[in-house]
Amino acid sequence: MARKIVAGNWKMNHNLKEGLEVVQALEAYLLKIAPKNVETVIAPPFIHIAQAAEISKNTHLSIAGQDCSAQESGAFTGEVSAAMLKSAGAELVIIGHSERRQYFKETHAQLSAKVEQAWANNLLPIFCVGESLEDRKAGHHFKTVEDQISGALGKYDAAQLENLVIAYEPVWAIGTGETASGAQAQEMHAHIRSFIAQQHNATLADEISVLYGGSVKPANAEELFGQPDVDGGLIGGASLQADTFIELIKIGEAVL
Ligand code: PEP
Repeated sequence: MARKIVAGNWKMNHNLKEGLEVVQALEAYLLKIAPKNVETVIAPPFIHIAQAAEISKNTHLSIAGQDCSAQESGAFTGEVSAAMLKSAGAELVIIGHSERRQYFKETHAQLSAKVEQAWANNLLPIFCVGESLEDRKAGHHFKTVEDQISGALGKYDAAQLENLVIAYEPVWAIGTGETASGAQAQEMHAHIRSFIAQQHNATLADEISVLYGGSVKPANAEELFGQPDVDGGLIGGASLQADTFIELIKIGEAVL
């Protein structure tokens, strides 16, 4: 069965004190309920990771990086390597978020190298895909997502891809308040699985986790998480406050 994950991506929000307060509140909640169905993940800014991982080491809350370098180490000022993330206590890393693709022009080859760095350092990559509004209006959304998967992941085999999570995040729904309907999310998630079955095999297609992201909030999470091919969410804005993220964890526990 695919792993069920409710993950928060804080992007460039929260100073250290604010961020650690949210992690402490999540930790207190998770210690009480010990979630059974879902894994909970927060991807804070890099500077929070070591302390966030220390606070959450006894619970089901795992810490992710929002990105990692495509390089192993060396003279790459400003970069953070997968090995550094691991050493700070991260267990996962987001790779290929649409903001990285759009603002930092990350290419398929760079994303592929980042995935390799994640694997080499025992981090689970959350690999993001998703079409722009223009792609969707032109009816190219399936092709765009296929190209993103095969462009960066095409050279890996099924055994390697067992250690990877896909997050489908339509760009038009990220941070816009617009969200895909349950039917639109389900349609794309099912398409991603059939593409993976065709490229690899049916077992991988069934077992790979495919998360939905794009303006998920408590009001729409039940509809989105309730779709048969949706294994959880990658949540931006609604993960910044502990109480809202806890609501989403509760919905995930109930319907995933
Ligand atoms: C994201 O950052 O991955 C995201 C989906 O953001 P939001 O939930 O704010 O749309």
